[in-house]
Amino acid sequence: MKINLLDSSIYNLISAGEVVENPASVVKELVENSIDAGATNVSVYIEDGGIKSIEVIDNGSGIQKDELYKTILPHATSKIKEADDLYTISTLGFRGEALASISAVSEVEIRTKYFDEENGAYLYAKNGQTEIGDCAYSAGTSIKVSNLFYNTPARYKFLASKSTEEGYVTKHIFRLILANPNVAISYYIDNKLTYSSPGNGLKGAVESVFMPKIANSLIEIDDIPSDDNLRITGYISPADVFKNNRNFQIVILNGRVITDQTMSATIQNAYGTRLMSRCFPIYVLNIVMPFDEVDVNVHPNKKR
Ligand code: ADP
Ligand code: MG
Repeated sequence: MKINLLDSSIYNLISAGEVVENPASVVKELVENSIDAGATNVSVYIEDGGIKSIEVIDNGSGIQKDELYKTILPHATSKIKEADDLYTISTLGFRGEALASISAVSEVEIRTKYFDEENGAYLYAKNGQTEIGDCAYSAGTSIKVSNLFYNTPARYKFLASKSTEEGYVTKHIFRLILANPNVAISYYIDNKLTYSSPGNGLKGAVESVFMPKIANSLIEIDDIPSDDNLRITGYISPADVFKNNRNFQIVILNGRVITDQTMSATIQNAYGTRLMSRCFPIYVLNIVMPFDEVDVNVHPNKKR
């Protein structure tokens, strides 16, 4: 797959944002890249809350050796080529910023084998120096990010404790699992398998992140009828099952997790007085609508 260096006339149309805030944002970007590469199996390893290292291994398409150097250049993406492509984006990424920003503030090691090439290749980047070569690798891609913010002490200082950063990563893993129910995602904290989803649909994904008691109580939403090409499926909790925060209110729009306060408030209101104050329903709503009706041009963390 060819990686394009986007022209400024295109990238100025895309609202850019700082994509690397903490280990959780790195994990999200790496896993989304794996999914965009067609992976059906993704393993995530973090050490010391992801501050020491994050490794994401996938069985996706791999990267051609000759294209490898572009992965860490700014505005380099294989996912769009011209401005019109912005209207039909079906991939999770498209700005070509993530690996550039990540490699600017950490050590990055990529090992990959493109499905159509004979040999594997690696890229190692640190301190603005890049090394590329051949290596033995059987299929897919592994990207290891070590020592986050080692060269930006001011940002390193803003990282929370290891356990807090680990908690943020775990929260993102839940979202990635629920948003990509057909991808098997395994998550290892300090080499211990902590969560793993089977990749066989939303039910399996829900069962892998929620305790059985909660998973079994959720009500299935089976395609709410609507007339605007909109499909809504998912799971929602009955009034007697709730959390004391909104962390388990997940809305997926065409495969992207979005945060929409209006929707959250509308659903909360629908429970009316059946929910006490500070009690929040649990839901996973999967909304599918035509790509050309979605404005992807919001901040990269897709909040609005
Ligand atoms: P974007 O995802 O917005 O295109 P990134 O900086 O995240 O930008 O990645 C740059 C490019 O590197 C991608 O467009 C893709 O071609 C390639 N790439 C990154 N990760 C992977 C992966 N796991 N498998 C295959 N290709 C990848
Ligand atoms: Mg990306």
